[in-house]
Amino acid sequence: MDLGLEGKAALVTASSEGIGRACALELARNGAGVVVCARREDVLDKAREEIAEETGRQIAAISADLTSARDIDAVIERTVSEFGRIDVLVTNAGGPPSGKFMDFDDAAWTRAFELNLLSVVRLNRAVVPIMREGGGGSIVNLTSISVKEPLKGLVLSNAIRAGVVGLSKTLANELGADGIRVNAVCPGFTATERMTELFTARADREGKTYDEIADGIYATIPLGRFAEPADIARMVVYLASDAARYVTGVTVQVDGGFVKGLL
Ligand code: NAD
Repeated sequence: MDLGLEGKAALVTASSEGIGRACALELARNGAGVVVCARREDVLDKAREEIAEETGRQIAAISADLTSARDIDAVIERTVSEFGRIDVLVTNAGGPPSGKFMDFDDAAWTRAFELNLLSVVRLNRAVVPIMREGGGGSIVNLTSISVKEPLKGLVLSNAIRAGVVGLSKTLANELGADGIRVNAVCPGFTATERMTELFTARADREGKTYDEIADGIYATIPLGRFAEPADIARMVVYLASDAARYVTGVTVQVDGGFVKGLL
């Protein structure tokens, strides 16, 4: 299957590690030039170098904090100056802290809103005119399975990420006529730094060991393993590509069967 990504220009945010890095790598493997961004310059540069070396593609890096409107503008400007266009946008960010409802004050809610919803709004809004000018494009907003089945001890994610799904579906309706597709991907439990952090925090909260938490979740996954970042990246790349040219407005989980509802 030809994904039609050869020579396309992609921006993947929060892409120095984990799922975002895997998305950038997979896009580049399939022929796209990619701009990667994250806060820590050393880790980001390492990712840029490794992806460029493995794929031979044009990969650029810019350090940015996605809670900053100014940094987001700089990321968009850098992508346009590097490639002259943006065909693919993959929005990703770090996750909000775990905890129960009464653990969080207004400041924590505001931070989570800025990181996991407002950054997506800003990035989507910034690329629309650029994609329109280029005759279309594909946006994939990364969220979490928490939008399909709220997760224990993750109230900030459960509440705020739902907004990303509402936004993506609305944009799919509004932008279809411009040839811009907008979809959302929901990673299940994926073996990254973030998963280790979440399991450690939950073990502390519940007075259990890390293995007890991990084994308990493991047992609920029909495919019998946690995801690798590449598992998520392959779905993102498919949706970003021309192979998915008739797919817009969907919210797809990649979770080994974890979500128990019908949809
Ligand atoms: P990770 O910790 O491996 O990587 C997070 C990436 O985001 C890193 O590149 C980090 O530098 C970057 N980042 C964090 N905060 C940032 C900020 N303010 N500005 C710019 N970059 C920032 O995590 P991951 O597992 O790849 O998770 C990526 C996203 O997917 C998170 O939002 C996470 O909550 C979500 N998610 C993860 C899982 C999982 O099981 N790992 C499941 C569902 C959803």
